[in-house]
Amino acid sequence: MDHFELRDGILHAEDVPLPAIAEAVGTPVYVYSRATLVRHARVFRDGLAGVANPHIAFAVKANPNLAVLKVLAKEGFGADVVSGGELTRALAAGIRPQDVVFSGVGKTHPELVQGIEAGIGQFNLESEEEGYELAAIARRHGVTVPCALRVNPDVDARTHEKISTGKRENKFGVPLDRAAAIYAALAAEPGLEMRGVAVHIGSQLADLEPLETAFGKLGALIEELRTGGQTVTHADLGGGLGVPYRKHETFPSPAEYGAMVARVTAGWDVQLSFEPGRVIAGNAGVLLTRVVRSKRSGNGPPFVIVDAAMNDLARPAMYGAWHDFDAVAPTGERMTAHIVGPICETGDTFAMDREIDAIGAGDLAVFRTAGAYGATMASSYNSRGFVAEVLVDGGKFAVVADRISPHAIMDAERVPEWL
Ligand SMILES: *Cc1c(COP(=O)(O)O)cnc(C)c1O
Repeated sequence: MDHFELRDGILHAEDVPLPAIAEAVGTPVYVYSRATLVRHARVFRDGLAGVANPHIAFAVKANPNLAVLKVLAKEGFGADVVSGGELTRALAAGIRPQDVVFSGVGKTHPELVQGIEAGIGQFNLESEEEGYELAAIARRHGVTVPCALRVNPDVDARTHEKISTGKRENKFGVPLDRAAAIYAALAAEPGLEMRGVAVHIGSQLADLEPLETAFGKLGALIEELRTGGQTVTHADLGGGLGVPYRKHETFPSPAEYGAMVARVTAGWDVQLSFEPGRVIAGNAGVLLTRVVRSKRSGNGPPFVIVDAAMNDLARPAMYGAWHDFDAVAPTGERMTAHIVGPICETGDTFAMDREIDAIGAGDLAVFRTAGAYGATMASSYNSRGFVAEVLVDGGKFAVVADRISPHAIMDAERVPEWL
C-alpha cells in the first residue's frame, strides 16, 4: 500500500497535489512519501515478529537520498552499504556506525580503512583475499573487526539475470563448498572476528522458494562450521523481496517472508540481520514527468514524449522493466501509445503499445514504483543534468535533492591550457 492516490480527480502524494510540486520544482522530479516509507519499514519489522531481535539494515543502494535514510534511521533501521560513498551517507543521515553492514565484492583499500575507522558493525567478506587484506589493516589499527562470510549458495533466484547474485557463475560471495575452509582460515587471522555468515541471492524475487533453499543451505553451513569448532553468532539473510510494479500483481508479503524465515531458522541460535531495499522504498516514490508533445510516425500508436528519460529512470532501458504510467489528472478516457523520453537512443523507451490514460502535450503523469533504483541510477547523459527529488510529509513537501543543472556539471570540467 502507498500514499499516492487520486483525490477529486488529481493524483496526490499524501496530502500534496502533484501539480503543486511540478509547479514549484519543475519536472522531471522524484517524489517520495514519508508515510509510505514509514509504513513499509513497520510492515517489514512486523513481518519479522517470529524472529528474536532482528537487525534490519536498509540497502542504501536502493535509495541513498539523505532524507530517505533519515526517515529510516528514525525507524531504527541500520544500513547495508556497498561503497565508501554509501557509508559516508549512512553516517551523515544519523545511522549509528554499529548498525552499518559493509557488503560488496570490490571494497577498495581506502574503503576498508574507512569502514574500520568509522567502527562499523560488520564487514561482509566476499572473498578470502579480502579477508586477509582487511585483517592486515585491522592489525595496523590495533583493532579486531566483526565479520561475516558471504557465501554463494548456487541458487537460481528466478529474477532478471542482471540482478541475480546467488548463482555459481555470479561474482558474489565464496562457493559454498569452500566456505567452511575459508571461514576457518580467516577466523585464525588476528584482527578479524569471524562471527557469522551472509547470503543475498538477488533482487525483485517473486517467490520465496529460492530464498528458502538458500537459507536452508546457510543453516547447514552454520552446523558444519560449529561441528568444526567455529563460532557462529550472526547470520545475514540479505534482501531481495520483490514488489508489484503492475496494479493487481501480488508478491509474497513481509509477513509470509517473516514466517518462512522464522520456520527455516528455528534452532539456529544466532542474531539474524536483513538488508531490504526495494520492498521498503520501491512503492514509496514516483517519477513525476510532463508530456513534451505527442507525435505519430506511420500508422502505429502515437509516441508520447515525456520530459523524463532513461538518464533519470534507467530500469526500463537497462532491464526492460515495467513501470505503471498514470496521468496526474485522468479524464477517464484511455489511449494506446508508446511512451518515450527525449534522449537520442531508441533504448530511451519506457513502454511500447501501452494502454494508458489519454494524455497530451503539457499534461503531467507519473511513473510509479520509482522509489528504489530510480534517482540513484540517474546520469547526466545527453547533458540533461541530474533529476531533483522531493519528500512529502502529510501536507508539506521539501526538495531533498536539488536539480543539478548541465551548467553545474560543466563547471567541474576543465579544458587544459595546452589545448
Ligand atoms: C542490493 C542488495 C540488497 C538489497 O536488495 P533488494 O532487492 O533491494 O532488497 C541487499 N543486500 C545486498 C548485499 C545487496 O547487494
